[in-house]
Amino acid sequence: DLLVVGSANADLVIGVERRPGAGETVLGSDLAVHPGGKGANQAVAAARLGARTALLARVGDDGHGRLLLESQRAAGVDTVGVLVGGAPTGVALITVDPSGDNSIVVSPGANGRLTPGDVRAATSLFHASRVVSTQLEIPLETVVEVVRNLAPGSRFVLNPSPPRPLPAEVLAACDPLIVNEHEAKVILGEACVSDRPEDWAGLLLAKGPRSVVVTLGAEGSLVASSPTDVTRVASVKVDAVDTTGAGDAFTAALAFRLGAGASLADAAAYASRVGAVAVTRQGAQDSFPTAREVEAL
Ligand code: ADP
Repeated sequence: DLLVVGSANADLVIGVERRPGAGETVLGSDLAVHPGGKGANQAVAAARLGARTALLARVGDDGHGRLLLESQRAAGVDTVGVLVGGAPTGVALITVDPSGDNSIVVSPGANGRLTPGDVRAATSLFHASRVVSTQLEIPLETVVEVVRNLAPGSRFVLNPSPPRPLPAEVLAACDPLIVNEHEAKVILGEACVSDRPEDWAGLLLAKGPRSVVVTLGAEGSLVASSPTDVTRVASVKVDAVDTTGAGDAFTAALAFRLGAGASLADAAAYASRVGAVAVTRQGAQDSFPTAREVEAL
Protein backbone atom coordinates (compact mmCIF):
# COMPACT_ATOMS: atom_id res chain seq x y z
CA ASP A 1 0.00 0.00 0.00
CA LEU A 2 1.05 3.56 -0.66
CA LEU A 3 1.02 6.41 1.86
CA VAL A 4 1.32 9.95 0.49
CA VAL A 5 2.28 12.59 3.06
CA GLY A 6 1.90 16.08 1.66
CA SER A 7 -0.01 19.16 0.72
CA ALA A 8 -3.61 19.74 -0.28
CA ASN A 9 -4.52 23.05 -1.90
CA ALA A 10 -7.50 24.63 -3.58
CA ASP A 11 -6.32 26.03 -6.93
CA LEU A 12 -8.27 29.23 -7.67
CA VAL A 13 -7.79 30.07 -11.35
CA ILE A 14 -8.74 33.25 -13.23
CA GLY A 15 -7.95 33.95 -16.87
CA VAL A 16 -6.76 37.53 -17.52
CA GLU A 17 -5.88 39.54 -20.63
CA ARG A 18 -2.88 40.86 -18.71
CA ARG A 19 -1.72 40.92 -15.09
CA PRO A 20 -2.50 43.99 -12.95
CA GLY A 21 0.39 46.25 -11.95
CA ALA A 22 0.76 47.62 -8.41
CA GLY A 23 -2.36 49.53 -7.38
CA GLU A 24 -4.24 48.44 -10.52
CA THR A 25 -7.41 46.35 -10.97
CA VAL A 26 -8.16 44.22 -14.04
CA LEU A 27 -11.23 42.14 -14.82
CA GLY A 28 -10.83 38.43 -15.43
CA SER A 29 -12.79 35.33 -16.41
CA ASP A 30 -15.13 33.36 -14.17
CA LEU A 31 -13.32 31.73 -11.26
CA ALA A 32 -12.47 28.03 -11.58
CA VAL A 33 -11.77 26.10 -8.36
CA HIS A 34 -9.80 22.84 -8.64
CA PRO A 35 -8.47 20.45 -6.00
CA GLY A 36 -4.66 20.49 -6.09
CA GLY A 37 -1.45 20.52 -4.07
CA LYS A 38 1.27 17.98 -4.73
CA GLY A 39 0.27 15.55 -1.97
CA ALA A 40 -3.40 15.51 -2.95
CA ASN A 41 -2.45 15.19 -6.62
CA GLN A 42 -0.14 12.25 -6.02
CA ALA A 43 -2.71 10.40 -3.92
CA VAL A 44 -5.41 10.82 -6.58
CA ALA A 45 -3.01 9.80 -9.37
CA ALA A 46 -1.97 6.61 -7.56
CA ALA A 47 -5.51 5.64 -6.57
CA ARG A 48 -6.75 6.12 -10.12
CA LEU A 49 -4.08 3.67 -11.30
CA GLY A 50 -5.43 1.13 -8.84
CA ALA A 51 -2.99 1.59 -5.94
CA ARG A 52 -4.37 1.21 -2.42
CA THR A 53 -3.55 4.72 -1.29
CA ALA A 54 -3.86 6.77 1.89
CA LEU A 55 -3.20 10.51 2.29
CA LEU A 56 -1.73 12.14 5.41
CA ALA A 57 -2.39 15.86 5.07
CA ARG A 58 -4.10 18.81 6.75
CA VAL A 59 -6.92 20.98 5.42
CA GLY A 60 -8.99 23.76 6.97
CA ASP A 61 -12.50 23.38 8.36
CA ASP A 62 -13.92 25.18 5.31
CA GLY A 63 -15.40 24.66 1.87
CA HIS A 64 -12.02 24.19 0.20
CA GLY A 65 -11.16 21.49 2.71
CA ARG A 66 -14.42 19.70 1.95
CA LEU A 67 -13.72 19.95 -1.80
CA LEU A 68 -10.35 18.30 -1.25
CA LEU A 69 -11.76 15.52 0.92
CA GLU A 70 -14.45 14.88 -1.65
CA SER A 71 -12.02 14.62 -4.57
CA GLN A 72 -9.81 12.22 -2.60
CA ARG A 73 -12.76 10.00 -1.72
CA ALA A 74 -14.08 10.06 -5.28
CA ALA A 75 -10.73 8.71 -6.47
CA GLY A 76 -10.83 5.99 -3.80
CA VAL A 77 -8.14 7.41 -1.48
CA ASP A 78 -8.31 6.48 2.22
CA THR A 79 -8.78 9.87 3.95
CA VAL A 80 -8.57 8.72 7.57
CA GLY A 81 -5.23 10.60 7.73
CA VAL A 82 -6.59 13.89 6.39
CA LEU A 83 -6.66 16.16 9.46
CA VAL A 84 -9.05 19.10 9.59
CA GLY A 85 -8.53 22.50 11.23
CA GLY A 86 -5.78 24.71 12.62
CA ALA A 87 -5.75 27.15 9.68
CA PRO A 88 -7.61 27.76 6.42
CA THR A 89 -7.06 25.22 3.64
CA GLY A 90 -3.98 25.98 1.54
CA VAL A 91 -4.75 28.01 -1.56
CA ALA A 92 -2.98 28.73 -4.85
CA LEU A 93 -4.19 31.98 -6.46
CA ILE A 94 -3.45 31.52 -10.15
CA THR A 95 -3.83 33.98 -13.01
CA VAL A 96 -3.36 32.69 -16.53
CA ASP A 97 -2.71 35.06 -19.44
CA PRO A 98 -3.62 34.40 -23.09
CA SER A 99 -0.18 32.93 -23.82
CA GLY A 100 -0.78 30.35 -21.07
CA ASP A 101 1.77 31.79 -18.64
CA ASN A 102 0.80 31.44 -14.98
CA SER A 103 1.40 33.82 -12.07
CA ILE A 104 0.83 32.04 -8.76
CA VAL A 105 0.60 33.11 -5.11
CA VAL A 106 0.46 30.22 -2.64
CA SER A 107 -0.93 30.49 0.88
CA PRO A 108 0.21 27.26 2.59
CA GLY A 109 -2.43 27.61 5.33
CA ALA A 110 -3.17 24.25 6.94
CA ASN A 111 -0.29 22.58 5.03
CA GLY A 112 2.09 24.60 7.20
CA ARG A 113 0.37 23.18 10.30
CA LEU A 114 1.01 19.51 9.41
CA THR A 115 3.40 18.82 12.28
CA PRO A 116 5.89 16.13 13.30
CA GLY A 117 3.34 15.25 16.01
CA ASP A 118 0.74 14.58 13.30
CA VAL A 119 3.21 12.16 11.70
CA ARG A 120 3.90 10.37 14.99
CA ALA A 121 0.16 10.02 15.56
CA ALA A 122 -0.26 8.21 12.22
CA THR A 123 1.73 5.08 13.15
CA SER A 124 -0.90 2.68 11.83
CA LEU A 125 -0.80 4.31 8.37
CA PHE A 126 2.99 3.95 8.30
CA HIS A 127 2.78 0.30 9.31
CA ALA A 128 0.27 -0.42 6.53
CA SER A 129 2.51 1.12 3.83
CA ARG A 130 5.23 -0.45 1.69
CA VAL A 131 5.99 2.89 0.08
CA VAL A 132 5.76 6.39 1.56
CA SER A 133 5.89 9.35 -0.83
CA THR A 134 6.47 12.99 0.16
CA GLN A 135 7.12 16.42 -1.38
CA LEU A 136 8.21 19.75 0.16
CA GLU A 137 4.94 21.73 0.34
CA ILE A 138 4.79 20.82 4.05
CA PRO A 139 7.28 21.82 6.78
CA LEU A 140 10.74 20.27 6.41
CA GLU A 141 10.71 19.10 10.06
CA THR A 142 7.58 17.11 9.19
CA VAL A 143 9.40 15.45 6.29
CA VAL A 144 12.27 14.60 8.66
CA GLU A 145 9.74 12.99 11.02
CA VAL A 146 8.30 10.96 8.12
CA VAL A 147 11.76 9.48 7.51
CA ARG A 148 12.08 8.62 11.22
CA ASN A 149 8.67 6.91 11.27
CA LEU A 150 9.08 4.61 8.27
CA ALA A 151 8.07 1.04 9.11
CA PRO A 152 10.85 -1.56 8.77
CA GLY A 153 11.25 -2.56 5.12
CA SER A 154 9.16 0.25 3.71
CA ARG A 155 10.51 2.48 0.98
CA PHE A 156 10.73 6.30 0.97
CA VAL A 157 10.19 8.30 -2.23
CA LEU A 158 10.77 12.07 -2.27
CA ASN A 159 10.07 14.68 -4.91
CA PRO A 160 11.75 17.76 -3.38
CA SER A 161 9.35 20.33 -4.81
CA PRO A 162 9.53 23.26 -4.26
CA PRO A 163 13.26 22.53 -3.97
CA ARG A 164 15.51 23.54 -1.10
CA PRO A 165 18.69 22.08 0.39
CA LEU A 166 17.94 18.84 2.29
CA PRO A 167 19.41 17.43 5.50
CA ALA A 168 21.63 14.36 5.06
CA GLU A 169 19.16 12.27 7.07
CA VAL A 170 16.40 12.87 4.51
CA LEU A 171 18.66 12.40 1.48
CA ALA A 172 19.97 9.09 2.83
CA ALA A 173 16.43 7.69 3.08
CA CYS A 174 15.39 8.49 -0.51
CA ASP A 175 14.90 5.45 -2.74
CA PRO A 176 14.54 7.21 -5.10
CA LEU A 177 14.96 10.96 -4.97
CA ILE A 178 12.90 12.21 -7.96
CA VAL A 179 13.90 15.58 -9.43
CA ASN A 180 13.26 17.60 -12.56
CA GLU A 181 16.07 19.72 -14.02
CA HIS A 182 15.37 22.76 -11.84
CA GLU A 183 15.10 20.68 -8.66
CA ALA A 184 18.33 18.82 -9.50
CA LYS A 185 20.21 22.12 -9.75
CA VAL A 186 18.89 23.43 -6.42
CA ILE A 187 19.55 20.18 -4.54
CA LEU A 188 23.06 19.96 -6.02
CA GLY A 189 23.84 23.63 -5.30
CA GLU A 190 27.63 24.09 -5.42
CA ALA A 191 28.02 20.46 -6.48
CA CYS A 192 26.26 21.15 -9.81
CA VAL A 193 29.54 21.15 -11.75
CA SER A 194 28.11 19.90 -15.06
CA ASP A 195 25.36 20.85 -17.53
CA ARG A 196 24.69 17.22 -18.46
CA PRO A 197 21.73 15.50 -16.73
CA GLU A 198 23.66 12.21 -17.08
CA ASP A 199 26.26 13.66 -14.75
CA TRP A 200 23.67 15.01 -12.30
CA ALA A 201 22.46 11.49 -11.52
CA GLY A 202 25.92 10.54 -10.22
CA LEU A 203 26.44 13.86 -8.47
CA LEU A 204 23.05 13.52 -6.74
CA LEU A 205 23.87 9.94 -5.65
CA ALA A 206 27.04 11.29 -4.02
CA LYS A 207 24.75 13.31 -1.70
CA GLY A 208 23.43 10.08 -0.19
CA PRO A 209 20.16 8.84 -1.74
CA ARG A 210 19.98 5.11 -2.51
CA SER A 211 18.66 5.87 -5.99
CA VAL A 212 17.86 8.86 -8.19
CA VAL A 213 15.40 9.63 -10.98
CA VAL A 214 15.89 12.79 -13.08
CA THR A 215 12.79 13.67 -15.14
CA LEU A 216 13.42 15.52 -18.39
CA GLY A 217 9.93 16.37 -19.64
CA ALA A 218 9.48 15.27 -23.26
CA GLU A 219 13.03 13.85 -23.16
CA GLY A 220 12.01 11.09 -20.73
CA SER A 221 13.99 10.39 -17.58
CA LEU A 222 17.23 9.01 -16.17
CA VAL A 223 17.32 6.40 -13.41
CA ALA A 224 20.38 5.49 -11.36
CA SER A 225 21.18 3.31 -8.37
CA SER A 226 24.93 3.74 -8.82
CA PRO A 227 27.00 6.42 -10.61
CA THR A 228 28.25 3.81 -13.10
CA ASP A 229 24.76 2.56 -13.93
CA VAL A 230 22.67 5.45 -15.29
CA THR A 231 19.81 4.27 -17.51
CA ARG A 232 17.83 6.48 -19.86
CA VAL A 233 14.10 5.77 -19.92
CA ALA A 234 12.37 6.96 -23.09
CA SER A 235 9.35 9.23 -22.99
CA VAL A 236 6.22 8.52 -24.99
CA LYS A 237 5.63 10.83 -27.97
CA VAL A 238 2.37 12.71 -27.44
CA ASP A 239 0.88 16.11 -28.27
CA ALA A 240 1.21 17.94 -24.96
CA VAL A 241 -1.58 20.42 -24.17
CA ASP A 242 -1.02 21.05 -20.42
CA THR A 243 1.91 19.76 -18.35
CA THR A 244 0.33 20.73 -15.00
CA GLY A 245 0.55 17.78 -12.63
CA ALA A 246 2.76 15.66 -14.94
CA GLY A 247 5.48 15.44 -12.30
CA ASP A 248 2.94 14.46 -9.63
CA ALA A 249 1.45 11.76 -11.89
CA PHE A 250 4.95 10.46 -12.70
CA THR A 251 5.98 10.27 -9.03
CA ALA A 252 2.73 8.60 -7.96
CA ALA A 253 2.95 6.02 -10.74
CA LEU A 254 6.59 5.27 -9.93
CA ALA A 255 5.80 4.82 -6.22
CA PHE A 256 2.87 2.55 -7.08
CA ARG A 257 4.95 0.27 -9.32
CA LEU A 258 7.84 0.14 -6.84
CA GLY A 259 5.35 -0.97 -4.18
CA ALA A 260 4.23 -3.74 -6.53
CA GLY A 261 7.83 -4.98 -6.76
CA ALA A 262 8.91 -3.47 -10.09
CA SER A 263 12.54 -2.51 -10.72
CA LEU A 264 13.34 1.20 -10.76
CA ALA A 265 13.74 1.24 -14.56
CA ASP A 266 10.47 -0.65 -15.14
CA ALA A 267 8.63 1.61 -12.69
CA ALA A 268 10.02 4.70 -14.48
CA ALA A 269 8.93 3.33 -17.86
CA TYR A 270 5.39 2.89 -16.56
CA ALA A 271 5.49 6.34 -14.92
CA SER A 272 6.55 7.86 -18.26
CA ARG A 273 3.41 6.48 -19.86
CA VAL A 274 1.28 7.88 -17.04
CA GLY A 275 2.98 11.29 -17.34
CA ALA A 276 2.48 11.20 -21.10
CA VAL A 277 -1.29 10.68 -20.78
CA ALA A 278 -1.49 13.44 -18.16
CA VAL A 279 0.10 16.04 -20.48
CA THR A 280 -2.43 15.32 -23.25
CA ARG A 281 -5.28 16.60 -21.04
CA GLN A 282 -6.09 19.88 -19.32
CA GLY A 283 -5.71 20.29 -15.57
CA ALA A 284 -3.94 18.37 -12.83
CA GLN A 285 -6.17 15.77 -11.12
CA ASP A 286 -8.59 15.79 -14.06
CA SER A 287 -5.75 14.71 -16.36
CA PHE A 288 -4.65 11.59 -14.44
CA PRO A 289 -5.33 8.29 -16.23
CA THR A 290 -6.69 4.95 -15.05
CA ALA A 291 -4.58 1.82 -15.51
CA ARG A 292 -6.72 0.90 -18.51
CA GLU A 293 -6.03 4.26 -20.17
CA VAL A 294 -2.30 3.77 -19.62
CA GLU A 295 -2.46 0.35 -21.29
CA ALA A 296 -4.38 1.82 -24.22
CA LEU A 297 -1.60 4.34 -24.89
P1 ADP B 1 7.77 18.37 -13.72
O1 ADP B 1 6.33 18.41 -14.12
O2 ADP B 1 7.99 17.99 -12.28
O3 ADP B 1 8.60 19.55 -14.15
P2 ADP B 1 8.68 16.89 -16.04
O4 ADP B 1 8.33 18.06 -16.88
O5 ADP B 1 10.05 16.32 -16.17
O6 ADP B 1 8.42 17.11 -14.48
O7 ADP B 1 7.61 15.75 -16.39
C1 ADP B 1 7.48 14.58 -15.64
C2 ADP B 1 7.28 13.40 -16.57
O8 ADP B 1 6.06 13.57 -17.33
C3 ADP B 1 8.38 13.21 -17.61
O9 ADP B 1 9.44 12.45 -17.11
C4 ADP B 1 7.63 12.50 -18.72
O10 ADP B 1 7.50 11.12 -18.41
C5 ADP B 1 6.24 13.12 -18.66
N1 ADP B 1 6.16 14.27 -19.60
C6 ADP B 1 6.24 15.59 -19.31
N2 ADP B 1 6.14 16.35 -20.42
C7 ADP B 1 5.99 15.49 -21.44
C8 ADP B 1 5.81 15.62 -22.87
N3 ADP B 1 5.78 16.83 -23.45
N4 ADP B 1 5.69 14.50 -23.62
C9 ADP B 1 5.71 13.27 -23.04
N5 ADP B 1 5.87 13.07 -21.72
C10 ADP B 1 6.00 14.16 -20.92
